[in-house]
Amino acid sequence: MAKITVTAELCKGCEICTTQCPKKIIVIGDVTNSKGYKIAKQINEENCTGCKLCAIVCPDAAIEVYK
Ligand code: SF4
Ligand code: SF4
Repeated sequence: MAKITVTAELCKGCEICTTQCPKKIIVIGDVTNSKGYKIAKQINEENCTGCKLCAIVCPDAAIEVYK
């Protein structure tokens, strides 16, 4: 099991990570950052493989993966 963190102020809610996660466990949540973007969050953390694909595809380097 792994988990991710999303740095709210770096995320622009572009949804690239939500579409690329093989487990489909990243969604755009209801929390808005100071720029008005709804930020990504992980759901079903227990299904995360730690593959880091989400971190690699994020154009703003907003995601960190912890194994
Ligand atoms: S890819 Fe990065 S910027 Fe885009 S929604 Fe995911 S965390 Fe946010
Ligand atoms: S590390 Fe892999 S499985 Fe976990 S949230 Fe990111 S893309 Fe999905």
